Amino acid sequence: NRRPLVIANWKMNKLPSESSAYIQKIANPLRRYPDVIPVLAGQDVLLPAMVEAAKQTDISIGAENMYWQDRGAFTGETSPAALEDLGVTYVIIGHSERRNYFRETDEKVNLKAQAALQHNLIPIIAIDEAIKPKDDNDRSHWVVNEVIESLEGISAEVAKSVIIAYEPTASIGSGQAMTPALAQFSLRRIRLTLADMYDWDVANAVRIMYGGSVKPENAYELMIQDDIDGVLVGDSALDPDNFIELCQVAN
Ligand code: 13P
Repeated sequence: NRRPLVIANWKMNKLPSESSAYIQKIANPLRRYPDVIPVLAGQDVLLPAMVEAAKQTDISIGAENMYWQDRGAFTGETSPAALEDLGVTYVIIGHSERRNYFRETDEKVNLKAQAALQHNLIPIIAIDEAIKPKDDNDRSHWVVNEVIESLEGISAEVAKSVIIAYEPTASIGSGQAMTPALAQFSLRRIRLTLADMYDWDVANAVRIMYGGSVKPENAYELMIQDDIDGVLVGDSALDPDNFIELCQVAN
């Protein structure tokens, strides 16, 4: 009974003027899929326009990154308190591109996840599996470690609201999604890790997403896997019609 999510990660691709038009286009069609939670994540400069356009709709807005301090001399960073004040409800943390291009570590991801939770922001913690794993064992180690380190110090009660997004780097932007069976294998590992760290109550509550070259054509096979609670979508979700289709599939 975990409600499926469809999360668009626009990355650095849209202009403020384009974001409102997108939201206006999808708002009514999405009312047909009430079981799905639709989330749009955009770069910071889009967020005020996105939040405004999403009022009176079922669409939630997310940031793509933030800092972990509320205020201070941190030029160029975004405060979790500011996101909360603006009406943003989700924040992607530790995306593969942040880890690879901006040296985000598990330690920083953990600080950001804790800060998000303190500000009523739901963290979407991205687990990236950057190195091509040699085998299934290797793959398990990678995801297990990232999950453990990202959630360190977060209590069971609070951990239930966290979202984890598994996005193997090789599948991001490549057009080649992971096979549904392999994605399910990794997501199962993540859920077992949560059960080990906490208990099954927590493991069954946490929503776990798959991301990496998801599109309307392959979303169904992914979404029917037991442990896949939703999809985190880049390229394909830049098109509002595709986003609507993804929500239809998820419903
Ligand atoms: P693509 O859907 O473009 O592969 O991107 C996935 C992603 O990184 C979403 O966060």
